Amino acid sequence: MDVTVVGGGIVGLASAYHLAERGADVTVLEKSSIGAGSTDRANGGIRSQFASPVNIELSKASVPVWETFPERFGTDVEYRRMGYLFLAREDETATQLRRNVRTQNDHGVPSEYLDRETVADRYPALRTADVAGASVLRSDGWADPHLGLQGFSRAATEAGATVETGVEVTDVLRTGESAGSGAGSGSGAVTGVETTAGRIRSEFVVNAAGAWAGEVAAMAGVDVPIAPKRRQLVVLDPETGVPEDHPFVVDVDRRTHFRPERDGGVVAGGHYADHDPEMDPDGFRTRHDLDWAVEVLDRLTDVATYFGPETEMRRGWAGLYAVTPDHHPIIEETIPGFVNACGFSGHGFMHSPATGRVVSELVLDGEATTVDVSDLTADRFERGETLAETTAID
Ligand SMILES: Cc1cc2nc3c(=O)[nH]c(=O)nc-3n(C[C@H](O)[C@H](O)[C@H](O)COP(=O)(O)OP(=O)(O)OC[C@H]3O[C@@H](n4cnc5c(N)ncnc54)[C@H](O)[C@@H]3O)c2cc1C
Repeated sequence: MDVTVVGGGIVGLASAYHLAERGADVTVLEKSSIGAGSTDRANGGIRSQFASPVNIELSKASVPVWETFPERFGTDVEYRRMGYLFLAREDETATQLRRNVRTQNDHGVPSEYLDRETVADRYPALRTADVAGASVLRSDGWADPHLGLQGFSRAATEAGATVETGVEVTDVLRTGESAGSGAGSGSGAVTGVETTAGRIRSEFVVNAAGAWAGEVAAMAGVDVPIAPKRRQLVVLDPETGVPEDHPFVVDVDRRTHFRPERDGGVVAGGHYADHDPEMDPDGFRTRHDLDWAVEVLDRLTDVATYFGPETEMRRGWAGLYAVTPDHHPIIEETIPGFVNACGFSGHGFMHSPATGRVVSELVLDGEATTVDVSDLTADRFERGETLAETTAID
């Protein structure tokens, strides 16, 4: 089976690894360098605290891979499991967190709902006077996205996949192209791709093009509602160093978050703009905005006593989330031979191990068995059957 994977980010490389391991003849085409899209700009968060069953299941199928990554792939991804703590300031948010914990527990994820007193007791540096409730899962954590990418890249190559960088896919070929009308005019099954390095024939094309996935889908005549949205992170030196075993704190109502580095610093973020335009993935500002970073710091001073006017900024950056209207990915064979694995809306790093496996099942078995992804079709938006995810972190 010949498979072309469009995109050398973590989703494309995890898919390539699983496909090649099962004997497929896989070529990954990356127009830039591997990881040059969103993957190398991610925060590395890996959590199972989600609201929707399918996101929880994608995490459950991914976490064991992150746990055993060094033994399996020979790469230490610096997976640190210090927990995620979601804080609610509003009663309505606390009710939602409580509901999420129930769903998570029903799916075998041992998260806990905490009241204000327990939060104050366990995390004395947090400002808890107006905390309405919280949820925590101590085994949530984070890893290094670049190391994860390198691990999957090497594993894919060792399993026999070819990774070609500097090659852009310019069209997706389908049967039924009439003579003289050129590529892209077909309406049947996929037969390959047109690229800047020539035509490549394959029985399957996997769209793992991240923020460009809408463009690549359109080449196949498929409509996927993916909006590239700019998101930023900043590394801070707080007034008081944050212990390296501190959990990743998400203050849902203050719309900010931070997680510790190993040296007292933190990686922090949050999205505040009312205006959140779609970005051109080939031309957006990759540096962080100073006024945004000041706003983050301002909000963090209301979240924990670590932060204050003496906090210093080390560096920051911006990248793109590939956002769908319901903050869930599209993972399906949308037309014969064309598999979408895109629209991860800020969760694509953590869910890449499960996704790679699911993609290999869709291609080689015709159905996914690792996780039931039947809710993640592209036509759910037209049918009005979108999913709900209240823990999306912007
Ligand atoms: C600031 C920030 C923080 C984040 N934090 C987290 C987090 O904590 N946890 C988490 O799970 N996720 C996080 N994410 C999201 C995560 O980065 C993405 O979901 C994930 O990297 C998506 O991987 P991908 O392989 O689908 O896309 P990408 O890494 O974007 O890869 C797609 C690749 O396709 C290539 N490409 C596009 N078009 C073509 C073409 N026509 N031909 C050939 N190649 C093409 C691009 O060059 C690109 O390299 C964060 C993202 C950002 C921006």
